[in-house]
Amino acid sequence: MDSYLKSIKTIIIESLNDYVILKDSIFHKEGGGQPSDKGWIEKEEILKYDGTKFYLKNNIFKKNQEVTLSIDWDYRYELMKAHTAEHLLFGSLQKINSSFEIEKIQLSENESKIFVIGEINQKDLILAQIAANEKIKEDLKIKEEVVKKEDVTNTRIKIDKIKDEKVRIINIGNYDKAACSGTHLASTKEIEFIIIKDIKKESSKITQLIFLTGKKAINYAITSCAILTGLSNDLNENPQKLSQRIISINNENLLLKSTIRKLNNALLNSIKFEPVNGIIFYEFNGIESEKLIKKASQEAQNSNVVFINDNTIIIAGKNSENIFEELKKVFEIKGGGREIKIGKINNFDINKIKIALLRLKY
Ligand SMILES: [Zn+2]
Repeated sequence: MDSYLKSIKTIIIESLNDYVILKDSIFHKEGGGQPSDKGWIEKEEILKYDGTKFYLKNNIFKKNQEVTLSIDWDYRYELMKAHTAEHLLFGSLQKINSSFEIEKIQLSENESKIFVIGEINQKDLILAQIAANEKIKEDLKIKEEVVKKEDVTNTRIKIDKIKDEKVRIINIGNYDKAACSGTHLASTKEIEFIIIKDIKKESSKITQLIFLTGKKAINYAITSCAILTGLSNDLNENPQKLSQRIISINNENLLLKSTIRKLNNALLNSIKFEPVNGIIFYEFNGIESEKLIKKASQEAQNSNVVFINDNTIIIAGKNSENIFEELKKVFEIKGGGREIKIGKINNFDINKIKIALLRLKY
């Protein structure tokens, strides 16, 4: 079937309730990772196509009526690009490492996915994308052939999954051969550009490659490069060394956090708290809440306590209920508790808390 046919005239051979059956079809039904086409019979939208029946939002058609079946071409063309790109990209990857296998594919008009069985490293990804884009430039012709199962050679195929005697093979020039039932372009040049935008570990054995084609791929490459350049300038590091630099910043950060925690804990144990008007008030940063709650409960034996730690407020002591209610009149505090009140306080000014507390006397 010509995958560039955008519409055909045909006859309704059955019309029942919400579906019709047509004499001929140019529709691709969902299968092999490619979603079903979208489109219309005359102006009526097709909701679903199962390979035989066209389900319609509004079935106004009668048996034997001549109608025009049209596909949503923009949508289909994106899928054809993605599908052809998938053959080219995976074919290139397999030339780098012949042990790679496809588990499944998932195509869409925006970004598409290949689930690959095997460990793929960064170098493999770069080489495969360079090779695939070279083949786009070479304008290789894509041809389909139908051959007997036993005559299939040098082809990517899951032979045990094919029930028919004959198999449809998609040839990309002499570069790649794969058994496939989907819709493809006539030439690689129409893909314009392929880029892998993300890789995700699906499981210990399977890696998900998320790729883009055409203008979307070009825009993504330009945008990503601009972001990388900005990041590289911000960190004053060349792009090749950025990843190592970020790892070392993260490690440094973890070390600093742990040092701050230790210092804070030492500070907590060394402070001699003095109440003002029967309330001990103190502001901390980055102390483990559990330690602070314990300290508040110790100090609350002799006085009321109000501790602020980042945006957490801890109130303890025999007047804690009253202090909590008074502060809630001025600040937005979410939380509560019985003997010790713990809450989140947002957008607060520490001086305003001090002033509010000074109004209270115990
Ligand atoms: Zn295909």
